[in-house]
Amino acid sequence: MNPASLELSAIQSFEGKYPRQLWWLFFSEMWERFSFYGMRGMLTYFMVHQLFMSESVANLQYGATQAFVYAFTFVGGLFADKILGFRRSLAWGGLLMIIGSIILAIDPQKLFFLGIAFNIVGTGFFKPNISSMVGTLYRDDDVRRDAGFSLFYSGINVGALLGGYIPIWLGKNYSWNVAFGLTAVVMAISVVTFSYSQRYLGPIGLSPRHGQPDEAKTKWRDWVTYAGSLAVIPLLMVMVSKTDLTDYFMYTIGPLTLVYVGYEMAKSTPDERKKLAAAMVFILFSIVFWAFFEQSGGSLSLFAANNLDDTLLGFLHLDPNGVNNSSNSLFVIIFAPVFGLIWLALAKKKLEPNTVVKFGLGFLFLGASFWVLYSTRFFANEEGITSLDVFTLAYLVMTFGELCLSPIGLSIMTKLSPKKLQGVMMGMWFLASAYGQYAAGLLGAGMSLPDPNATASAKLISYTAGYQQLAIYAVVAGVLLLGLSPLVRRLMGEVK
Ligand code: GLN
Repeated sequence: MNPASLELSAIQSFEGKYPRQLWWLFFSEMWERFSFYGMRGMLTYFMVHQLFMSESVANLQYGATQAFVYAFTFVGGLFADKILGFRRSLAWGGLLMIIGSIILAIDPQKLFFLGIAFNIVGTGFFKPNISSMVGTLYRDDDVRRDAGFSLFYSGINVGALLGGYIPIWLGKNYSWNVAFGLTAVVMAISVVTFSYSQRYLGPIGLSPRHGQPDEAKTKWRDWVTYAGSLAVIPLLMVMVSKTDLTDYFMYTIGPLTLVYVGYEMAKSTPDERKKLAAAMVFILFSIVFWAFFEQSGGSLSLFAANNLDDTLLGFLHLDPNGVNNSSNSLFVIIFAPVFGLIWLALAKKKLEPNTVVKFGLGFLFLGASFWVLYSTRFFANEEGITSLDVFTLAYLVMTFGELCLSPIGLSIMTKLSPKKLQGVMMGMWFLASAYGQYAAGLLGAGMSLPDPNATASAKLISYTAGYQQLAIYAVVAGVLLLGLSPLVRRLMGEVK
């Protein structure tokens, strides 16, 4: 079918709760996240056990990879807006991710950083743009948008849950080549799924130059983008493998993107400018959220290994690290549709809290979850081993916070950004995650005890003291945001 033959207005005036195109994006993103979290779940373990790095080096390198992955979403979003459009960006990003995984499947020990660099750039082109496409399925005033993003978010976490488990299990028990090979196969499924979706997408995601008189003449810009993204790969290999370069990168990229967004704001109309300013408030607060939330990959995984028993609900015997890695995704899968339906039901009664209030609630839940983590110290035995039940309860509460903020954040970026900046602003949203990841590592390191022979009890006290601090700061951030809400709402204009 000719893509343009399906009118945008026909897509956006769908009946029922969700547009059918959402399901295609759901599955495509689900498989991409399988591949991404599969890779992420293997990285640190692989670096320690196969590349024989020390734990601290592996941790730093893991943090660098995550920071670069999310930082590149800004680049991917920018080039989608200006040159490629969402569709070509997704196809290109998907292809790079497949190549990266194939490289790792061939020889993960020797080609490790090359494969990772391909994956970083590929994710940058894929991740923000598929999220932006979800937003395009809705008319500006459609109250079903947040529910759509909640559903999409479930897909993310189905992928994360399966991907977090299966590849590392294959790698540990069978073969690392097969484990990385699986992520390549799954990423190919994602790209094929997306390519099928195109026939239902009408004009959505076509290049911004589509149909322009100079379209054929400016085709070279696509090729320069492809070539440029390949050219940064060797550079990235060096930057990721030397983590002090990551520090310089993080010091530079944030200010530069702020200058760029400032420039775009200066060119925008006053109404657009106010909305972009509101988007920046959400983005800045989200850095704080992710810095706390992302303890899960760092200090909480050490806490799980050092301080938790293995019994859940009195009869389930589980690996505490497995619980640490998967309980959040499982809770998202269960509760994202519930939250989506709650927002819809409240919207029908005209009682739906606006985005600032949802964000504020997100921080209050986050604070409560860290308070629960702090309270694990009161359930510990003399050896410093504490309750897996209480720990898992903290993840439940933390997930509620995530559901008030993360899918809503995706949704609000698509509402507050003018069409020409959709990709960039989604990229900024994920760039905040890059800084969150980066700060999470620093916070986690600050909570740890320098003495390698510290007892489990001493570690329990040290980490839980850190979690108590985070609980307090999260609540302060939530209250601050709620206090700022009249101002931010004014900036948002008619957007809720
Ligand atoms: N878990 C979500 C995802 O993978 C959110 C990640 C983030 O923004 N830090 O998409």
